[in-house]
Amino acid sequence: MSDATPTIGKLAIIGGGLIGSSVALAARHSGAASEIVIADTGADNLAKARALGLADSYHSTATEAVGGADLVILAVPVGAMTTVATDIAPGLKAGAIVSDVGSVKNSVLKSVGPLVPAGVHFIPGHPVAGTEQSGPEAGFASLFDGRWCILTPPEDADPAALGTLSAFWTKLGSKVDIMTADHHDLVLAITSHVPHLIAYNIVGTANDLETVTRSEVIKYSAGGFRDFTRIAASDPTMWRDVFLNNKDAVLEMLGRFSEDLTALQRAIRWGDGDALFDLFTHTRDIRKRIIDAGQDDDTPDFGRPHDS
Ligand code: NAP
Repeated sequence: MSDATPTIGKLAIIGGGLIGSSVALAARHSGAASEIVIADTGADNLAKARALGLADSYHSTATEAVGGADLVILAVPVGAMTTVATDIAPGLKAGAIVSDVGSVKNSVLKSVGPLVPAGVHFIPGHPVAGTEQSGPEAGFASLFDGRWCILTPPEDADPAALGTLSAFWTKLGSKVDIMTADHHDLVLAITSHVPHLIAYNIVGTANDLETVTRSEVIKYSAGGFRDFTRIAASDPTMWRDVFLNNKDAVLEMLGRFSEDLTALQRAIRWGDGDALFDLFTHTRDIRKRIIDAGQDDDTPDFGRPHDS
């Protein structure tokens, strides 16, 4: 976040939750927009956003917020994108850029794209940054620092609009990557969507066990379980929409995952220690590469305090 020259005049953020409020804070902090407005259908969320001073003005309808906006960011759950796009279409100014932060890209491209009027640029995006929390109070200005933001422009996207959107995210602290929506959905299926499904599943399984009590699961959770519970505490609406909208890629990756899990099951059954050791050595190396790439730090146990 260096140069204070705004890349955008008026920025309209639709949905002032974790990501929308973080975009507002990062845009304010970096000077990436000269005016910031937020729309949210939740009266409580809007009141919280106002109390936090996230924007210059607050709106209960998206239609009202987008008037005169140079950049509109849809920061609502993926399942709400079509409704919002329908609502804002008549109010968009010619030359505006419409983008989004949805965790799935192909369904957004296909459902929102046709609703964007001629003369308005539509370039979907996804900041690969977040937490398990939601709502305006969960946002923070540094959320995007050093994290990737993936843009998935349609084939006929305007290069100048793509440049403006890339510059905007760079100013918010992100590194920008560009790829097709299909490829994004495959990559994120394995790096984000399937891991969340595994976490939801293992926490659900532990909850249903009859031979191990729930209080034992909680008591001994430091053995690894609690790290899954962080992910499994993620917003139910958001994640329901991710799985409903990235069905093909998730099922493809889940198929691969199930085959590999079966291979591990065999290795344990037949006492194939070499197979287990080789895999665990390889996965440890992947963790090291993530740390080396600056996508996590190597503080032991995620920096949790321990008595010495
Ligand atoms: P969030 O904290 O739940 O915020 C979503 C906000 O949108 C809520 O305030 C919600 O209000 C509001 N909203 C819902 N429908 C609306 C509509 N039709 N018009 C205006 N506002 C509406 O969720 P989030 O985590 O910021 O996620 C937002 C988007 O970012 C999702 O598409 C998600 O896939 C994507 N994303 C999330 C993460 C993450 O880690 N959380 C990371 C990257 C991308 P109500 O609460 O009243 O419904």
